[in-house]
Amino acid sequence: MASTEMLGRLGNSQDESEFYTPMPEGYRRGHTKYVIVLGTVMSGLGKGIFSSSLAKLLQDKGLRVAPIKMEGYLNIDSGTLNPYRHGEVFVMDDGLETDMDLGTYERLLDQDLNAAHYTTNGQILSGVLRKEREGGYLGRDVQVIPHVVGEVKLKLRELAVKTNADVVFVEVGGTVGDYENSFYLEACRQLAYEEGEGSSMFVALTYILEPGALGEQKSKAAQLGIRKLMEVGVHPHVIACRATNPVTEKVRQKISMFTNVPMKRVFSMHDQTSIYLVPDSLRVGGIDREVLTILDLHDRVDQAKEDRERERWNWFVDRIQPPKEKTVKIAVTGKYVSTRDAYASILKACEHCSVHLGVNVDLEWIDTTQIDRSNVAKRLSGVHGIIVPGGFGSRGTEGKIECIKFARENNLPYLGICLGFQMAVIEYARNVCGMTDASSSEFDPNGHRAVIDVLPEQKKIEGLGGNMRLGGKDVEIKAGTIASRLFDNATQCRLRFRHRYEVDPKFIPQLEAGGLIFSGKHPTQPIMQMLELPTSVHPFFVGTQAHPEMTSRPLRPSPLFMGLVQAGLDYANKPAAAVPEKVKA
Ligand code: GLN
Repeated sequence: MASTEMLGRLGNSQDESEFYTPMPEGYRRGHTKYVIVLGTVMSGLGKGIFSSSLAKLLQDKGLRVAPIKMEGYLNIDSGTLNPYRHGEVFVMDDGLETDMDLGTYERLLDQDLNAAHYTTNGQILSGVLRKEREGGYLGRDVQVIPHVVGEVKLKLRELAVKTNADVVFVEVGGTVGDYENSFYLEACRQLAYEEGEGSSMFVALTYILEPGALGEQKSKAAQLGIRKLMEVGVHPHVIACRATNPVTEKVRQKISMFTNVPMKRVFSMHDQTSIYLVPDSLRVGGIDREVLTILDLHDRVDQAKEDRERERWNWFVDRIQPPKEKTVKIAVTGKYVSTRDAYASILKACEHCSVHLGVNVDLEWIDTTQIDRSNVAKRLSGVHGIIVPGGFGSRGTEGKIECIKFARENNLPYLGICLGFQMAVIEYARNVCGMTDASSSEFDPNGHRAVIDVLPEQKKIEGLGGNMRLGGKDVEIKAGTIASRLFDNATQCRLRFRHRYEVDPKFIPQLEAGGLIFSGKHPTQPIMQMLELPTSVHPFFVGTQAHPEMTSRPLRPSPLFMGLVQAGLDYANKPAAAVPEKVKA
């Protein structure tokens, strides 16, 4: 048990005490509880999915929840990580570039997160070094223990204060035993000790092997993984067993027996067809009750709210599985077509639309480096819509232009996202407005007509120092447009951005004269944020400089994706004769 005297002395680094626990102002000990989720056996088990699903169960009960992901890498943020290696870069409203797990939290909790909900070794260590230079630890040799772990504990408690959370969910990246996560683990162990009994709990997420040759589930790897956790002084309160199939009673008994965790706190977390089915499958196992008991939170439950929230959520999950009669096939012309995680939010946005519109949305991944004028019609035959997603660099861009041209000329629904918006401007400039040399200075720096360019003076106005324009921004919507209809006639919306280039305003008059409509603009600056063609010319040709997939939520799907899938459905429903020749297989 932590002593109050001990906590009273914390924060004074010149003190001879071995405890170094800086406390944020206004911290109310005992108000916020902590659920610490650790992975054993292997990474990639879905700690983020588990953690956000459990957080959702408590949030539905009226508790205020605040997740945080602690990454083991030295990068300050995820901005420079390669999507091939690490999945998509997810941008939060405040502009911090994080990893795709933060997207999972935002979607499941329907909550906008910010920098307080994400940290990396790089952030923690650079913070310690900065503090050392500023004389923050005068008189002391600065060490991993107590100083680095002290900063980690501070970060967690700051989140508690900032969000006034009932429960902070701490997801420690990687696997127990990794060097890079060891100080996080130590920090969590100390935090639990200092906060005292009933204030925090550890969940070990483990993996149950089921080798095909044996045809049965084996628990040894899980047992060894949990033992590894115990070696560093952490005894889990709950064990969640990831597995392909429901974990058998016998395996749960073994795990319970060898870890001293009661059977009722050893849960199966087997594969589901959609991550949105995970919260319910955990609730059926009774995990929410156990967590409330361990953390003494039963008093804070709002039963009426839980009933309401479950009704709303059930509406969604009940529609995920039943077979749907119609299928809309959408081609996604991505660069990272071999790693779906690079487009995780696009997949999710389409899943949301699938449920809301009651259709299957099948995505077909198309590598545009293989596309040219001669094969585009064949390659796109049978699809009902196209997404050209975000991207960087010139590889495959001419193939994208061909896809966009084809969509525009053949009434095929089109949604251009970020780079896909810019490519649509280039295609229109070249093929409709007669600017045959139109390009972007990103991939054609040597002077063709850069309708897409870097505009440092605009960046300065926005105070962003001429680099990437990141985060949530307001978009003014033009009345009478497709965008206006999709956003229920709102005059403004907020979308997430991550780009360096944009439409050069000096070409706007020429593009508009040629028929292109800029339906979304920055409220005060000439930054073009959405475009479209009139419905008299094309049923659905829309682009946005933003990433609408990042703000699509299960119960509030992205209007732009809804527009695309609905248009794709209309296209699919057209009698065959109305489908242009070129589109037929
Ligand atoms: N590469 C483009 C830019 O930096 C588009 C970025 C994106 O698609 N996220 O502006």
